[in-house]
Amino acid sequence: MSGLEDLYREIILDHYKNPRNQGELPTPPAVVEQGHNPLCGDEVFVYIEMDGDTIADIKIGGQGCSISRSSASMMSTAVKGKNSEEVHELIHRFKAMMSVEEERPGHEGEADLKEFGELAALQGVVKFPVRIKCATLAWNTLNQALERVQQAG
Ligand code: ZN
Repeated sequence: MSGLEDLYREIILDHYKNPRNQGELPTPPAVVEQGHNPLCGDEVFVYIEMDGDTIADIKIGGQGCSISRSSASMMSTAVKGKNSEEVHELIHRFKAMMSVEEERPGHEGEADLKEFGELAALQGVVKFPVRIKCATLAWNTLNQALERVQQAG
């Protein structure tokens, strides 16, 4: 297992050092939502630009720890080009993966990890409950941004 943990650590570090989709988008047409995790001091700005029901573009701003930054970077690559239903499903499944292990029935989560691709790297954070909010911050913020889009539309 240590080989896998090393791989996961490398993926997280790679996204932290080379964050994908970093920057801003002009608002409008994009919408922006700010998220804050006072436990750690992480701050994130999620910009999304919709094309109909699809996230045509996404940019990530703000600052925070390696877990919050790499999670936001991975999220941006995972949701770009997906429609809101697919994104809501992914948000739901990601947050389920990041819930405390004892709350997950059986071992169904292990099979699911393959579908997550790089995002599975963040599952190790569950061992450190104080960091879970770091990993879920960008996802909650994206969810709020999508709600904002729906209210406007
Ligand atoms: Zn953090």
